[in-house]
Amino acid sequence: MNSIELQQNWEDDGLHEECGVFGMYDLDGNDVASSIYYGLFALQHRGQESCGISVSDTFGPRKVDLLKGMGLVNEVFNSENLSKLHGNIGVGHVRYSTAGESIPSNAQPLVINYVKGTLMLAHNGNLINANELRDELAYTGAIFQTTIDSEVIAYLVARERINAKTAQEAVTNAMKKLKGAYALVISSPRKLIGARDPFGFKPLCIGKRDNAYILASETCALDTIGAEFVRDVLPGEVVTIDKDGIKSDTSMCLPKAKEARCVFEYIYFARPDSNFDGVSVYHSRIMAGRFLAMDSPVEADVVVGVPESGNAAAMGYAMESGIPYGTAFVKNSYVGRTFIKPQQKSRESSVRIKLNVLKEAVCGKRVIMIDDSIVRGTTSDRIVQMLKDAGATEVHVRISSPPFLYECYFGTDIPSRDQLIAHNRTIEEINEIIGADSLGYLRVERLKEIAGGLGICTGCFDEKYPMEPPKEDIRGEYIK
Ligand code: SF4
Repeated sequence: MNSIELQQNWEDDGLHEECGVFGMYDLDGNDVASSIYYGLFALQHRGQESCGISVSDTFGPRKVDLLKGMGLVNEVFNSENLSKLHGNIGVGHVRYSTAGESIPSNAQPLVINYVKGTLMLAHNGNLINANELRDELAYTGAIFQTTIDSEVIAYLVARERINAKTAQEAVTNAMKKLKGAYALVISSPRKLIGARDPFGFKPLCIGKRDNAYILASETCALDTIGAEFVRDVLPGEVVTIDKDGIKSDTSMCLPKAKEARCVFEYIYFARPDSNFDGVSVYHSRIMAGRFLAMDSPVEADVVVGVPESGNAAAMGYAMESGIPYGTAFVKNSYVGRTFIKPQQKSRESSVRIKLNVLKEAVCGKRVIMIDDSIVRGTTSDRIVQMLKDAGATEVHVRISSPPFLYECYFGTDIPSRDQLIAHNRTIEEINEIIGADSLGYLRVERLKEIAGGLGICTGCFDEKYPMEPPKEDIRGEYIK
């Protein structure tokens, strides 16, 4: 591309979740596609590259209707194509890729036919042993149609199913071979199955509406379709939903002390109106702001958040410090997937197209600006400068996560350490680069408190990964 560069996500310095999953089984036989569509709509923040829905009828012949494509949920689906998806059991998915290319064939759900019927599968997370498993399967005859690790899971489940008595037993047996992060929603012909990896990196919850059960990455998706929250799927648990209700297999669960939820779900990924394993995401962010005020206090006139996830933390900082909370940024929410990134020399900047400063709110004031993270640092300096250009006399930056120092292998696209601004730099050096008057980060010791004392992963902050990381950076290497 010459004069303009199309990019899939304009936020150069943001982090991305890999995926969102949603499954539904209506025991009364009603179509579920439109509810899955609205569920995916609520999970859109977890992935904007591609999406898909597959459905089948538990009362009728084993036929699967599948529609998936590149783009946002409302770009891929419309009332006409949605009305052609018939079935009372189904699986949906929104995707952002951290492993595997961004191409239509990598969109999910995956649908595979095998001797025991049809399997529909949606996966959120990242396996660290996908290459080995893929090779093993390929040498015994498997032919892969995608470059994603989720297909490895689908094959393993299908293969295990041949010798297992039930589909859920096949899932449990497949899990014994998987290493890494996964929240799975799988539909066998007459069962909806949900599973979380034993560490519980990724969230998955169960809901119910009338005589229909739902599995979803986040509780906000249950609210959107008017379903009640039943409970979270436990880390390591396999739940099976069929006409007899919910069955649970906890044989893969680890002791609580070993659980390792991705703490970045609380800080940034999840929607603030979701609860993850009994902890409110909004409350976590308020707590992070409160801790920042306790640990990195500074005198100022107003506390502002960088939308969206900085807002709740800014509120927490304001509550704890007594400094008034204000709104300094107006966000353009219509910056889509195919946003045309301005050229380097152009006078428009990506940041300014997305965010504008309310001058009246900051002019002549000492401002505390709360953001959720600094990754490469390529946008923080511009946001600080925008506040100064608007007349802020001082800008103190507070970050509601600790400095990113290491890679993530479990489904978050944290770049390699040499691209992280905090790697090999002191906080003073980072402060100088972003041009703020002071800079403070959340302390690593505070993370467990913001997650309500639950077991969490902190690998990208302190290199204490819950499992041995791969020797080399294997992210994105499934293309062979
Ligand atoms: S390394 Fe960081 S981003 Fe990755 S799972 Fe752990 S806490 Fe989440």
